Amino acid sequence: MAPGRVLVVGAGLGGIATALRLAVRGHSVTLLERGERIGGKMNRWQRDGYTFDTGPSLITMPEVFAELFSLAGADIHRQLQLRRLDPVASYRFADGSSFRYGQSLPLLQAELQREFPYDIEGFHRLMALGGRLFELSRRTFFADTPGEPPDPSMAGALKYMPLRHGWGNYDATVRSFVRDERLISFFGRYATYVGSSPYQAPATLLAIPYLEYAHGAWYFQGGLYSLVEALHALLLQYGVEIRCGASVSRIIQRNGGVAAVSLEDGMELDGDIVIFNGDSARLPMLLGESESPAEDRRSMSGFVMLLGIDGKLPTQPHHSVYFSDNYSLEFDQLNGITNGGPGFPEDPTVYVNMPSASDNTLAPPDCESLFIMANCPADDDWNEEKTQRARRLVLQRLQRSGFPDITDRIRVEQLWTPACISSAYDMPGGAIYGQDSHGWRNTFLRPANRHRRVRGLYRVGGSSHPGGGTPTVLLSAAIVDRLVERYEGA
Ligand SMILES: Cc1cc2nc3c(=O)[nH]c(=O)nc-3n(C[C@H](O)[C@H](O)[C@H](O)COP(=O)(O)OP(=O)(O)OC[C@H]3O[C@@H](n4cnc5c(N)ncnc54)[C@H](O)[C@@H]3O)c2cc1C
Repeated sequence: MAPGRVLVVGAGLGGIATALRLAVRGHSVTLLERGERIGGKMNRWQRDGYTFDTGPSLITMPEVFAELFSLAGADIHRQLQLRRLDPVASYRFADGSSFRYGQSLPLLQAELQREFPYDIEGFHRLMALGGRLFELSRRTFFADTPGEPPDPSMAGALKYMPLRHGWGNYDATVRSFVRDERLISFFGRYATYVGSSPYQAPATLLAIPYLEYAHGAWYFQGGLYSLVEALHALLLQYGVEIRCGASVSRIIQRNGGVAAVSLEDGMELDGDIVIFNGDSARLPMLLGESESPAEDRRSMSGFVMLLGIDGKLPTQPHHSVYFSDNYSLEFDQLNGITNGGPGFPEDPTVYVNMPSASDNTLAPPDCESLFIMANCPADDDWNEEKTQRARRLVLQRLQRSGFPDITDRIRVEQLWTPACISSAYDMPGGAIYGQDSHGWRNTFLRPANRHRRVRGLYRVGGSSHPGGGTPTVLLSAAIVDRLVERYEGA
C-alpha cells in the first residue's frame, strides 16, 4: 500500500518528531499549528537583547534526541552544541543549608557526607531502586502503548521488577530509605517533573531522579529552542508542509475512519492518517462527541516569571531550587486540602533557571536572563490580583532564601500564569502534562496512542501515553511511528 497522506495537528515536540519520522518513511506530511511558531511549549521569547526559553529548561536522556536526528540522516552533534551541566542544580533549604548536586561521584559523596551523613546509604539505595524502575519502564511502559498486544521481548524486562518497594506511594517509599526532611524534599521535587505531587504519586516515578543522576542534565547552547530550529530545518529537508496559524476545529470521519480536518477559517484538508498532538482532553470536541473538554484530573501547571536583569549575578548557578519552609503544607495548599480549594501556595518552592550562567548569547553583555518557576494548580481563572500576589510570594521566597535582590534591576519582564499557558497552547487549565500521575490508573493508563474507535487517528505528546517531558514525548512519537507502520501498512 502506498504511504498515506498524514495530517499532524499541533507542532509541539511530539508532533514535530512524528511528522519527521513519517516523512522520512515516505509519507506526505502536513503539520498544522494554531500558534504563530512551531515548538508548542518548547518555545522562545525575546526582548531587548534578552532571550528566554518559555518552557523546558533542562534536558534528560539526550540519546533519545540523538536517535531522532540520526533517523533523519543527521548528526545532532553537528547541528547543536549539547552541553552536560555540572552541577545539575544547587538546592537551598529553608534552614539556610544547601546541597550542591554535582555529576562527579566523589564530589557528590563528599557533599552527601557533609549534609546528610546518616542518609548516604539510603540515597544510593534509592537511586538503585530508581535504576531498576527506569530499566523496567524503558523496556515496557516507554516502548509500547496500552491496548496493543505485548511484545514478547518485553518478558526479559521482568528481571528489573523490584521485589519490594517501587509499587507504593512515592513519599512513603522515599521515607523508608532516608530520614532527613531536606533530602526527602529533594527527592519529592522530582515527582513535580511530571506535574504531580510526591504525596500522591506512585514510587515508580523514582525512575526520574535516577535518570538525572545517571544520564545527566543537558542544555543546548543558544537555548533549548535551538533544538526546535534544527528540527524545523530537517522537516523542510524532508518536504513536510508546515502551516502555522492553522487551528483545527474538527476531525472529519467517513466509514469509521479519519477523512479530513477542517480549520477554523473553514478550509478542509484531506488526510488518511491524523496525528493529534494537542491536549487529549480536547479530542472528543474535535470529533464532535462533546461540547466541552473531557473531565480528567489535571496535572499541575506553573507560574513562570521571565526576567531580564541588569548586571551579573556571579555566584548564581545555571539551575537552583529554593525550598519553602514546609513542603507538605505547600502541596496541601496546591491540592486544596487546607484552603478550601486548590490555590497558589503562601510559601512556594521556587526554581530558578539562569542559562546566561553558561551561555553568553542569551543576555546583553554583563546582564542575566532568568526563568523563575513555581508549581501552581491547573486553573483557567487568573486575574491581575492573583498574578501580582503570586509574583510577590515568589520574590519573597527568593529573598528569604538569600537570593540576590533583583527588584530594582529588572529590565524586561513577562509573566506566564496557568491561564496564559492554557490559551497559548489550548491546554485546559494550563496543565502542563495533561492528566496527573496520581495513583496507578492515571500513571499507567494515559490516553492510548492509537484511537480505539476511529481508524487512522493517533495521539502523540505529553497528554497521551507515555506522558510529558521532552524525552518522553519523543518516545511517544517513536511509538506512534511504529503503530502507523503496523496498522496503516507503511
Ligand atoms: C513552563 C514549562 C516548563 C517545562 N520544563 C520542562 C523541562 O525542564 N524539561 C522537560 O523535559 N520538559 C519540560 N516541560 C514539559 C515539556 O515542555 C512538554 O512535555 C513537551 O514540550 C510537550 O510536547 P507535546 O508534544 O506534548 O506538545 P505541546 O508542547 O503540548 O504542543 C502542542 C501543540 O499543539 C497545538 N495545538 C493544540 N490544538 C491544536 C489545534 N486544534 N490545531 C492546531 N494546533 C493545535 C498547540 O498550539 C501546541 O503548539 C515544561 C513545560 C512548561 C510549560
